[in-house]
Amino acid sequence: TPDIRPLVAGNWKMNGTRENLSELKAIAEGLGADLADAIDALICPPATLLYVATALADGTPLSIGAQDCHDRKSGAYTGDISAEMIADCLAGFVLVGHSERRTLHGESNETVRAKAEAAKAAGLTRVICIGETEAERKAGETLAVLGQQLAGSVPDGAIAADTVIAYEPVWAIGTGLTPTVGDVAEAHAFIRAEMEKRFAGEGALMRLLYGGSVKPDNAAELLAVPHVDGALIGGASLKASDFLAICKACR
Ligand code: PEP
Repeated sequence: TPDIRPLVAGNWKMNGTRENLSELKAIAEGLGADLADAIDALICPPATLLYVATALADGTPLSIGAQDCHDRKSGAYTGDISAEMIADCLAGFVLVGHSERRTLHGESNETVRAKAEAAKAAGLTRVICIGETEAERKAGETLAVLGQQLAGSVPDGAIAADTVIAYEPVWAIGTGLTPTVGDVAEAHAFIRAEMEKRFAGEGALMRLLYGGSVKPDNAAELLAVPHVDGALIGGASLKASDFLAICKACR
């Protein structure tokens, strides 16, 4: 298996005001040379903190990303933020298709794909999120759902340098529940095989993150699963000590 540099990504969701910048600073400063040699680390704060976050992270190993983008460059889309605007804040990444966007904002695979294309056009690396609901898992549809989401959400021509896939079972997000190591292994092996089939050469190198209730005490076990090349972390990314502990578990 190829040597893939892990990525540990934090999603602050709609949490974080200027007060939380001290945590961001602690993360940036806590990524010592040993960690920065081994892994990439990313925090996606709310858009309101994006520009100040990139200034804080400048010159440190920490990357900054946004949590969503619109699929158009600009225009009459009140309240929306384009990938160009995110790039203009000097951020390098954007999450697209997080389950909270798919569920609460009705985003379809087509919408997610358009956002992923816009991200690439703006020079951002897109972290494309997929995952089955609890009902889908109980019905034995997990791999079929993941296959549909990958086919529908990941744009043609994706390469490892511009695309990260995050597998996040919806029922594991923010619940404290995690799939078994065997279930994570099955999902990630499936995603890898799908990406290798579609993106010859590149699919083998694309980073596949696991997300859903990753904490310092379960990170090592989850991150040791084959084809898990890092983690996407919600709650535990808000505290520098927790986030850094997960980074260490990934090394
Ligand atoms: C997420 O929102 O991407 C996530 C994985 O959240 P949590 O770690 O809190 O489950």
